[in-house]
Amino acid sequence: MSYVDEVIAQVVEKNPAQPEFHQAVKEVLESLRVVVEANEEAYRKDALLERLVNPERQLVFRVPWVDDKGQVHVNTGYRVQFNSAIGPYKGGLRLHPSVNLGIIKFLGFEQVFKNSLTGLPIGGGKGGSDFDPKGKSDREIMAFCQSFMTELYKYIGADTDVPAGDIGTGAREIGYMFGQYKRIRGVYEGVLTGKGLSYGGSLARTEATGYGLLYLTQEMLKCNGIDIAGKVIAVSGAGNVAIYAIEKAQQMGAKPVTCSDSTGWVYDPDGIDLAALKEIKEVKRARLSEYKNYRPNAEYHEGKGVWSVKADIALPCATQNELDVKDAEMLVANGCMAVCEGANMPTTLEATEYLQKNGVLFVPGKAANAGGVATSALEMSQNSERLSWTFEEVDSKLQGIMVNIFHNLDAAAKKYGFEGNYVVGANIAGFEKVVDAMTAQGIV
Ligand code: NDP
Repeated sequence: MSYVDEVIAQVVEKNPAQPEFHQAVKEVLESLRVVVEANEEAYRKDALLERLVNPERQLVFRVPWVDDKGQVHVNTGYRVQFNSAIGPYKGGLRLHPSVNLGIIKFLGFEQVFKNSLTGLPIGGGKGGSDFDPKGKSDREIMAFCQSFMTELYKYIGADTDVPAGDIGTGAREIGYMFGQYKRIRGVYEGVLTGKGLSYGGSLARTEATGYGLLYLTQEMLKCNGIDIAGKVIAVSGAGNVAIYAIEKAQQMGAKPVTCSDSTGWVYDPDGIDLAALKEIKEVKRARLSEYKNYRPNAEYHEGKGVWSVKADIALPCATQNELDVKDAEMLVANGCMAVCEGANMPTTLEATEYLQKNGVLFVPGKAANAGGVATSALEMSQNSERLSWTFEEVDSKLQGIMVNIFHNLDAAAKKYGFEGNYVVGANIAGFEKVVDAMTAQGIV
């Protein structure tokens, strides 16, 4: 059995009931096969792949909190510190009822390569809880965040592990967690990113993932002789990534026509009304069904369906495995030319293969959505300097980083004979730097 197959089999056996983690490891290791085979003996001797797929540390802890009626609830908190070869662990905290150890591990594993791709000195980690922030009062959110941080603070710090937001963790949650960390540790440091502007946050962090996705998409299309202006775009999600992807796409002259949340989706043939979307999701925190009150000509449907719409480009920006092979078939049948992942692993392995086989340009999330973590790293730099950069300064650095990421993965794909395969390119480009650093640091 080849080394890659051996390690994949070990991961499946040693981590039962973690299908998302298996999926992420398979996707990465399969595409690294060519590099691993060229160095098989040395890697095997150093157990390099085993070290890569086993997190340095996995923390699982109890999070008790009291609701507004005095009832005590107990959630599970997680922080997986996956790999610190190139810098302090960095990665978000997801608050969603679907969270479990396997999901956090898949996200942490992907984060290692994503962070490497940014070219910045950040290792990979991820965390969160099965707590559901939906329908909770502000006080309940604060009670949960304070309890969560009362355990997490022991394991994080500005030079060791710097968590950020993710699904369910926005500016409000980061604020409560930061306050509790400062209170317990008595230290004012950049231990979290995604902070508010009044206490160390970075301008352009809110927009970074969505804007970054579009900067990379535009560069990738340009290098394939395609102009993004005038293109119709199907977007899924209606959260942070989706909203700012839609904003930047509109600024580039493209036309996003869909968005979705966990209950339904909107098709607006005239183009999404961004002001209405922001008011519904950022101000009212309401359901997308309200969109029709702003735009009577738009369609609202329950369930999922954004990939059935005719679009030139698809940007999945909601959650993992939201674009399956049936969706991929519809996209191809409708003439879609590019899929760039705003969310983490939104496309199933089968769907990715189908898209690539049918000539659709496909950029995986670890490259396409790296703008968020890259800007988080820029927030860390500003905190260390005790300075704040202007919006334009951060945004132009972000743009440079995303363009660079595309050229690095494009070059890695070409170097190994996989021209145009951006999945292979992203994995190899991310892997090479991490492996160099791991090898230089010995068996740790
Ligand atoms: P948000 O919580 O702001 O938004 C998530 C959106 O996806 C919401 O519209 C939500 O619907 C929808 N959604 C969540 N879970 C499901 C589900 N199970 N089924 C259908 N729809 C769902 O999160 P973000 O926009 O921050 O994150 C979106 C994706 O991007 C995630 O995969 C995240 O890991 C990834 N990402 C985010 C980064 C960031 O900087 N924010 C950076 C890099 C990656 P509803 O409104 O009903 O909850």
